[in-house]
Amino acid sequence: MARILITSALPYINGIKHLGNLVGSMLPADVYARYCRARGHEVAYICATDEHGTPAELAARKAGQDVAAYCAEQHEIQKAAGEGFGLSYNHFGRSSSEANHELTQHFAARLEAEGFIEERTDRQVYSPTDGRFLPDRYVEGTCPNCGFEKARGDQCDNCGKLLDPTDLIDPYSAVSGAKDIEVRDTRHLYLLQSKLEGEVRAWVDSHPDWPLLTRSIAKKWLDEGLRDRSITRDLEWGVPVNREGFENKVFYVWFDAPIEYIAATKEWDTDGWERWWRTDQGADDTRYVQFMGKDNVAFHTVSFPCTQIGSREPWKKVDTLKSLNWLTWYGGKFSTSEGRGIFMDAALEIMPADAWRWYLMANAPESDDTAFTLENFAGAVNKDLADVLGNLVNRVTRFNASRFDGVVPDGGTVGEAEEALYAELDRRIEAYTGHLEAIDFRKAFAELRAIWVSGNEYLQVAAPWTAFKTDPEKAAVGVRTALNLIQLIAELSAPVIPFTAAKILSIFGREGEEAPAWPEGKAKDLLSRLEVGMPIEAPDVLFKKVEDEDLAAWSERFGAPKDA
Ligand SMILES: [Zn+2]
Repeated sequence: MARILITSALPYINGIKHLGNLVGSMLPADVYARYCRARGHEVAYICATDEHGTPAELAARKAGQDVAAYCAEQHEIQKAAGEGFGLSYNHFGRSSSEANHELTQHFAARLEAEGFIEERTDRQVYSPTDGRFLPDRYVEGTCPNCGFEKARGDQCDNCGKLLDPTDLIDPYSAVSGAKDIEVRDTRHLYLLQSKLEGEVRAWVDSHPDWPLLTRSIAKKWLDEGLRDRSITRDLEWGVPVNREGFENKVFYVWFDAPIEYIAATKEWDTDGWERWWRTDQGADDTRYVQFMGKDNVAFHTVSFPCTQIGSREPWKKVDTLKSLNWLTWYGGKFSTSEGRGIFMDAALEIMPADAWRWYLMANAPESDDTAFTLENFAGAVNKDLADVLGNLVNRVTRFNASRFDGVVPDGGTVGEAEEALYAELDRRIEAYTGHLEAIDFRKAFAELRAIWVSGNEYLQVAAPWTAFKTDPEKAAVGVRTALNLIQLIAELSAPVIPFTAAKILSIFGREGEEAPAWPEGKAKDLLSRLEVGMPIEAPDVLFKKVEDEDLAAWSERFGAPKDA
């Protein structure tokens, strides 16, 4: 038994997340957490909403809400969506929490004491009318490149050119529309990452086990040279900076967000959190696994480690990074504003969570970007879940109900068909477990699907429905074996389709098992666990198929390309 800390990149507070965000970090982290719990490990699966920064302020303003109230409301929406998908966080926190305020200020104080923080002067846009400095995105004006009249101070949305607010022609405040924009001096705290470059590089080099992509992204950043970065901003919403002259400033979101991994753990396990995070308090025995999209790798291999290492305190750093590529919407981008793609809340309105979980994980964008299409989704539901898994469970339990009074049948001895099944399962379960240990999801779930298929193939050979008339003993062995197999399959499938697994296990009297134990041992023994005479109730149809008219309606609703 091990202690395993699992974090998912924090979803930004601003709006419900789409399927690409879900499979990019939160869902794979959940599947892995469920697997680790099934193996009997002590698991902390930690996530939170990332709540600070300009986009949250702007979104709140647009919604006509106070930013704190806006974030509180959005947090509840994201939390509910996560629950709907069965995301089994041990704690789903908020980066705006008191615990994160304290820890962020603690890290800043430690970094300063160790000589890694310095006050510098920046030039920044100020609006006397608004009485405040304006972050880049708060300044709008005419793009000097294309003449677009609503270009933002950081980028023109029309031509894509990266801008400085001072590049804009006729700039105005996005807060008030005021045109009295001027540039003033402002003081900010800089994290001297350049001084930590050597130590971060040595730490990255100590992980030759990381995937090539992860190491090359980290090395690229290090080779380009780590730049000292400002960790404060002239904003109201955020973690306050306890320092004279910084009364109207907060820490910048990139600095406080990863610290929330620690703060959320502390909120969850108030007395024992240090054994997850402090190597002098037992965290040396913790294995720390992070899940994130590929855009976040540099942040987790370089930026956050700078903060941890520079504090000169014994913080637990990541052992294993699982980074994922993009899930695209028919090869393009998911877009909230253009109503393109499926978001977490809408997904659950049309299909149960397990259908999405299965499709997304069996097709996880691991080695490359992967296109989501409704047609492929429907194919996975209809073939894998309904025809293969659902059919196996429903066919066997119904036959058992009609021919063996709904109890596990007695009699008969195992023969060649069963021996062949044992051999195949031993081989496949070992491979499946190995892929999950390696956090190699596509390979894992191809193997799981093959295990489901092996059940159907076994039934073809054992054919209890025909044997029942001529050789009831043989039929009894077939049904008993198949019922045992269904229980085993539920245990093996629980990390990826937990709702369905729970439904299947309940027919064997195993209700309410949060994390069904991982089946250990030989298939021969695993397939003879059900007691003869035990009542089995045939469940309702496990998976409803996707019909052509569903597909047509969804394509319309979610903006699928017409020529797809
Ligand atoms: Zn432009």
